[in-house]
Amino acid sequence: MAARECSPCIRCREDVEISDAAVALRIDGRTVGIQPRRQSDQKQAYLCVECAIAIAMGRIEPPRTQPLTMVAHSIICEMVANDPSIVVAAWKQLRKRLELPASVAFPEIEILPPGDRLRLAT
Ligand SMILES: [Zn+2]
Repeated sequence: MAARECSPCIRCREDVEISDAAVALRIDGRTVGIQPRRQSDQKQAYLCVECAIAIAMGRIEPPRTQPLTMVAHSIICEMVANDPSIVVAAWKQLRKRLELPASVAFPEIEILPPGDRLRLAT
């Protein structure tokens, strides 16, 4: 993981510590139709995983009058939908906030071949 500084979540303003899971949003500017072409440095902002999940689940609506925010919401929804690790990170963050142990022992899951499943159903 690349080094980063503690910075506030761009939505809830809670500190996103360097050891916290987060979604990084990078943005830069570039001229178009203007010569010579200029490009800004890239800036980075962080969104805590809890806010990322809330956005992806539609609990936080993007303001329709802010197109850049709508683009960010779309990116966040795609990231959360395509990778369950963000949901898992939010779950771990919740357990940490509630002062629960970091890990949970899940029962063993047995995957039955289709033939066995049919036999058990009858
Ligand atoms: Zn947040």
